[in-house]
Amino acid sequence: MPKSPEDIIREEIRALKAYHVPPSAGMVKLDAMENPYGLPAELRARLGRIVEEAALNRYPDPGAGELKQSLREALAVPPELDLLLGNGSDELIQMLVLAVARPGAVVLGVEPSFVMFRLIAAFAGARYVGVDLREDFSLDGERLLAALEAHRPAVIFIARPNNPTGNLFDAGIVERVIEAAPGLVVIDEAYHAFAGESFLPRAARHPNVVVMRTLSKLGLAGIRLGVLAGPGRWLAELDKVRLPYNVNTLTQAVAREVLRHGAVLTEQAGAIKLERRRLAQALQGVQGVTAYPSDANFILFRIREAERVFDGLKRRGVLIKSFHGSHRLLADCLRVTVGTPDENTAFLSALTQTLSE
Ligand code: PMP
Repeated sequence: MPKSPEDIIREEIRALKAYHVPPSAGMVKLDAMENPYGLPAELRARLGRIVEEAALNRYPDPGAGELKQSLREALAVPPELDLLLGNGSDELIQMLVLAVARPGAVVLGVEPSFVMFRLIAAFAGARYVGVDLREDFSLDGERLLAALEAHRPAVIFIARPNNPTGNLFDAGIVERVIEAAPGLVVIDEAYHAFAGESFLPRAARHPNVVVMRTLSKLGLAGIRLGVLAGPGRWLAELDKVRLPYNVNTLTQAVAREVLRHGAVLTEQAGAIKLERRRLAQALQGVQGVTAYPSDANFILFRIREAERVFDGLKRRGVLIKSFHGSHRLLADCLRVTVGTPDENTAFLSALTQTLSE
């Protein structure tokens, strides 16, 4: 008898649910924190020519040296820090956890936060410890410090701004966590473009801090490029678990060209920030809605009968994300990505219609 998956696949993997990406064809897609604006036609045409000339018969530049140089300049990486690139920041999280996952190693995150920290810990066979945020989604410094003492985590993930709550954790508490951490602290700045505050300039002062960025939320989710900046001593070890050629030729070439015109993405981020303010104000004005302050390109809000509202929006062609049932602190919470003015208006009108059903 051939063995079945039940015999062979690890229990902790069988217990997981696959990361679900709902179908979105034809919908107003406000579920995944994408930049709603495409690139300007002229730049797209140039990218076409670059793809045409790319040597697709060859493996990519394994160290992505030229792209790293463009990123250094575009992100103003302090010269004393090295860079490590990933196929999206998801892959960097995977490299970080794989590299530390000796038996019994602990990965620590706050809850609620980005689910991949917990999921990847499970993939790698590490023990995940989640420390709850306060009711207002701020960091609970005392609880975190106690958890560091109790669990001695090999790596701590702090998303700043946090997903799905949207807030920017207090820098002073993060500093205390860094000082007390027995291992590595990852500051995940996926939403940095919408926040305007970063740990990157101060990362160089701490021997145990790495800062993670991604081009996904800036407007290049489709090319999958994540960036880790940190001390060479750490990155050289992490680089050993990186699969060769993890950043493909097209991603390297397209990212370099778009970064040469980086102002386009910064301007789009600016437009998204303006729309965020309008959307937050409009949401706050809807009876029964509590919209939480956001430093990211999405807004978390609480509303009665969130699941019914989510379904009502979907029936009207608007896809957002429901967090109801995922964590005690997220009961009746929905997250909407800031879209174009038209998309946001469509969302608000679908919301009003749903609420008056
Ligand atoms: N970190 C955070 C906090 C995120 O919200 C996300 C995407 N949802 C990621 C990392 C992963 O981004 P990517 O793999 O597209 O770079």
